[in-house]
Formats: sequence, structure tokens, C-alpha cells
Amino acid sequence: MKNLIGHEATLAYLQKNIAQGKFPHAVIFSGEEGVGKRLAAEICVAGLLCENPVDGSPCGVCESCRLVAARSHPDFYVVEAEATKTTRNIKIGQIREMQSEAALRPINSARRVVIIDGAELMNNAAANCLLKTIEEPPSQTIFILLTASRSSLLMTIRSRCMTVHFDKLKPAQIRDALITQGVDVQEAERLSVIADGSFGRALKLKDSGGAQLREMALDTLEKICRAELSNEDIFKTGAEMSDWSRDKFADFLTHVQKILRDICFAEVLEPYNSDLMPRLSKIKIPERKNFLMIETGAKYHKRLKSNANLRLLAESYFMQIRKIYHRG
Ligand SMILES: [Zn+2]
Repeated sequence: MKNLIGHEATLAYLQKNIAQGKFPHAVIFSGEEGVGKRLAAEICVAGLLCENPVDGSPCGVCESCRLVAARSHPDFYVVEAEATKTTRNIKIGQIREMQSEAALRPINSARRVVIIDGAELMNNAAANCLLKTIEEPPSQTIFILLTASRSSLLMTIRSRCMTVHFDKLKPAQIRDALITQGVDVQEAERLSVIADGSFGRALKLKDSGGAQLREMALDTLEKICRAELSNEDIFKTGAEMSDWSRDKFADFLTHVQKILRDICFAEVLEPYNSDLMPRLSKIKIPERKNFLMIETGAKYHKRLKSNANLRLLAESYFMQIRKIYHRG
């Protein structure tokens, strides 16, 4: 099984509960996307199903451990969101299917474990359906709900589950893990800063050229401040962005927002982009305008969730922030 990055105390606590037979019947792992919740949950599953666990930690060699690692253990069930082009959600049919499995006696082990990954993506019908099971759980079944947005879960579900929080990772933890995976030191350093505490995000950024995305965000702001961002540039960028996914544009916006925040608060807050500070300190934006630009970015972030055409949205965003900067 892969090594979990960070969360040592959290995992030790969970494994102590496994060893003492006190692991809760329903638990929420709450924390940002990509921070390690799924891997931590799988390590718990392995520990719960293992034939020879050591202090709640899986032995890694028994049949159960091997089946969990291969994701083919008959007593281990995962519910994940089904993605279409525009949405990702967990439907009631998936919960019902899980329930009929969870009601059966365990096959290989003393219990069954169900992971619901992305619990906030259950629609209402699915959540209510799950609630019934959590209210009267099959005695031998354990539910682990993973969520990046605990507050979006039904109150009734939250109140019936114990919650375990997974904090953001430190940049140094992400950097070291990236280096272990063969990423070169400089790139690891950069990615660890912009990943904002999530190793999953760092990996995604590595694959999607996240560092380039941030560079593009900074470049755009520099051009605006030098009065060099022409309409032609905007239309060209808009055309390029029309092929992007909405997530990628959202990431781009997030980079602009963080850069703006760093420019404004460099002296009082720990910067997001500490490695960029020499360049950022050269960008001068009056505080009032900076706030307006951040506000505008937040507005476009929201508009991304509508069906608005991405190209038009991007172009209008650039026009807006340029206008704010140059308006008297
Ligand atoms: Zn084992």
C-alpha cells in the first residue's frame, strides 16, 4: 500500500481505534480534495479487514490485505461520483446498490467496509436513502464518508457520524513527496507552493502544467499593469481558453486571485506565492483597485457554474479587470 503523506497523528488515532475494536460505525473524513483522505480510508479498510493486523495497522501480506490493495476485496465496497460532461454526482441507484451489498453477511472477513468518496456529491434522494442505512446500520458494516465540503452534507447525516478532520499539508511535505516521486527539486518547490496544501492538486498541476497556468496568470497581470494588454491579446487568449475545461479556467482565476492577494498583503500575510515575491513586488496596484479586481474574480468564479460560454466569460473577465486597473 502507498504511503500516506502527513496526517501521522490522525492515522495513529484511527488505528488505535481499530486495534481496540472501537472504530465508529459511521465516520466522516473531512478535508480538502487531494489531501490524503482516500488513501487514509483505504489504510483503515485494510486494517479493519486484515487477518493479522498490528496495532490496527494492516500486515500488508495476508490475502485480505492483498485483495484490498487490488481493490477486489469482496467485503470492501466503494461508491464514487459518476461524472458526465457537466456534472459529477452520486445517484440514488448507486446508494441502493451499495445497500443491498452492505446488508449481506461478510464473505472473507468479520465485517464489511463501505467508502463513499465525495459524499457531498450525493443528490438529496441519495443522501436521504443513505441516511436510513446510517440510522440503522447493518451491524457488521462500517461506513467511511469522504468529503471536501462537510457543511454540504445533510445535518442528519453529520450528526450521526463521527468526524475526523484532515488538515492541509505543509509545502515542505508536498515538496519532499514530489521529490521522492522523481520530480526535480525546483519544479517540486514551485508546485508545493501553488498546490495550497493538497498533494492531489500538486500532482494534477504537475500533469496539467499548473506552473505554466500560474505563469500565464502573472503574465496577464503584468501586462495589464504595463498597459500592454490589448484587445487583440484578449481575443487571442479567449480563443485559446475556449478549449479549456471549466476547471482549468477556475484554476487560472484562482491563481490571479492569489497573486492579487499576495501583492496587497505581502507585508502582513504569509504569501501564497513566496517564490514569486521578487516579481510581485514590482507590480503596483492601489489597494482599492486590487480589492475590486479580487471581487470581480470571485464574481466570475461564480458565473463559471452557470452555462455561460467560456470564451465570452474569459474575454469579459479580462476587459473588466483591465478597466478597473486603468480607470482613474
Ligand atoms: Zn493483512
